[in-house]
Parts: sequence; C-alpha cells; structure tokens
Amino acid sequence: MSIVVEGVTKFYGEQKALDNVTFTVETGKITGFLGPNGAGKSTMMKIITGFIPASSGKLSVNGLDVGEAGLEIKRQIGYLPENNPLYPEMYVREYLGFVAEIYKLPSPRKKIIDNIIEMTGLTAEQKKRIGSLSKGYRQRVGLAQALIHNPTVLILDEATTGLDPNQIIEIRNLIKEAGKEKTVMLSTHIMQEVEAICDRVIIIDKGIKMADDEIGKIYSVIKRPKQSVMIEFDREEIAEPLTAVSYISSAIHLKGNSWMVEAEGSEDIRPLLFAYAVRNKLTVLSMQNQESNLEEVFRQLTNG
Ligand code: ADP
Ligand code: MG
Repeated sequence: MSIVVEGVTKFYGEQKALDNVTFTVETGKITGFLGPNGAGKSTMMKIITGFIPASSGKLSVNGLDVGEAGLEIKRQIGYLPENNPLYPEMYVREYLGFVAEIYKLPSPRKKIIDNIIEMTGLTAEQKKRIGSLSKGYRQRVGLAQALIHNPTVLILDEATTGLDPNQIIEIRNLIKEAGKEKTVMLSTHIMQEVEAICDRVIIIDKGIKMADDEIGKIYSVIKRPKQSVMIEFDREEIAEPLTAVSYISSAIHLKGNSWMVEAEGSEDIRPLLFAYAVRNKLTVLSMQNQESNLEEVFRQLTNG
C-alpha cells in the first residue's frame, strides 16, 4: 500500500471537513477521489501531502508517518494542488530550475529539466513566461513540477478542472502515462474522469467516505430497478398508461415522444413494450436499454 489513511478527522474551527475517513491507495494504480464540491477532497490531499495536519487519525505514505517524516516524505510525493498556484512572472524553464533547487536535485540539473520538459510536452513553451501560457499548458507546468523529482506517489487535485475538452484529453493522457510507473491519486468532481482513467474509486461526500472499490465493482453498491429502457414512439399522445404494462414500475415522459421506463424483475420488458405499441397503434422509433453508469452511482450516494 502506498497511502494508508486511518480514521482521519479534520476540523476547521467548529466545522468538520473530514469525518473518520479510512482508506488505502494501492501501489501502481490510479485511484480516483470523487466527490461534489465541498466534500473534503482538497482537505484530504493537503493532509496526505503534509501541508496541513489532521485533527486526529493516522496516515502513512510508503510506510513513512505523515507529519513525522518531513522532507523525506515530500521527496516521495509529487503534488499538484487545486488551482495550480504558479509564479506567472517566471519563465517555464527558470521555474523548473527553481523547483529542482527546492528539492536539491543533484547537479547537473540540465538533463533532469530537459527530460521533464520533453515528457510534459513543454519543449516549445520552455522559454515563455508562465503567465502567458494557456490554462492547458499551465497544467503541464504544474505536472512538470510535480514530477521533476521522480516521486513514486502522485497526488493531483482537480488537475483537469477548467480545461477545454482537448486540453482535458491531453492532461489525462499525461496522467495515464505517469500512472504506468507511479501510484496516482487524483481528485475530481467529474464522474467521467474516473471512468476514463482510474482503476479504483473512493467516493466522499460531506467529509464521509461513501464507497471504495474497483471501478467494475462499484456499480453493485447502488439500488436500481432491474431494467431501464428508453423508448421513442412516433407521436406524443398515448392513451393506455405505460405503467399498465406488466412489470413496469415507472414511466417518465421525456422530451417529445420519448419515455424512460423502469421495471422490476428480470423479465425482458422490450417485447412487452412492442406489444403495448401495437395494441395502441404506436410505431416504435427507437428503444434502448440504459446501462448503469458511475454518474448514477455518484448521484445516489451523494444525494441521499
Ligand atoms: P473539496 O475539495 O471536496 O471541494 P474542501 O476540502 O476544499 O472540499 O472543503 C471541505 C469543507 O471544508 C468545505 O465545507 C470548505 O468550505 C471547508 N474548508 C476548506 N478549507 C477551509 C479552511 N481553510 N478554513 C475553513 N473551512 C475550510
Ligand atoms: Mg477541492
């Protein structure tokens, strides 16, 4: 285990931001830390990286006690804080030299800096001022500073928030690449991000851990009707209510001529829906089974 968090609670004054949170982050995997705004994600990441102390609980990174190990632990962790604070007046290459100095990386540092610039795709930008870069390139600089000392654990707080769709894909690819040889924990409030890059997901809401599992297994935690089917007819008015059809427990009228139908039980309701359409002289234009998705898991766990 790369990160072990045991019963961590954090108070800001009277407010409890984390409530007895326990989890582990496995070595060599990409773990998503998912939750709505204010859930406590950034707080947890600041605690793991040693920037703020927990009010109570125990944490270790690579077997080192957070809080006691000091600089030694910082050498093993790369951290991209939320909103990626950088020095806008500094030039990209100059800034990375400055970070290399902070970590006291061995000289000559030129090769280390060349490598990280190439790895994060900053070759053409290395002589530009950070303040003049697009947000996507600033995130690359943020990743470069998090990776420059070749840490084994990478903590990324909302690394793609505020980026345009192309930039999101580019940054996700960099994270996936880094995740091949490092343990990555990334926070996000975007479910698709977790589905796109993570092996595992920990869901947190109001400071409380709600779920913690492999992506494939997380779906089993939600209660869903056995089937959801989206059906579109050729007209809007229907006489016989859809809920009159066997097994159908609810029917929601969507836009235009479409309905979302939910059914209990394992009986395939699609033939019954066809028979219903024939009986009511309706033509079925389309019919789709709706898969469970992580969005649904998230909604159920954090709205309850
Ligand atoms: P997330 O990153 O999931 O959006 P945060 O960890 O930033 O959540 O915040 C969790 C809760 O703690 C929020 O209610 C937030 O307002 C509060 N909080 C965060 N930082 C501070 C702080 N420095 N002082 C007081 N309250 C804070
Ligand atoms: Mg945050």
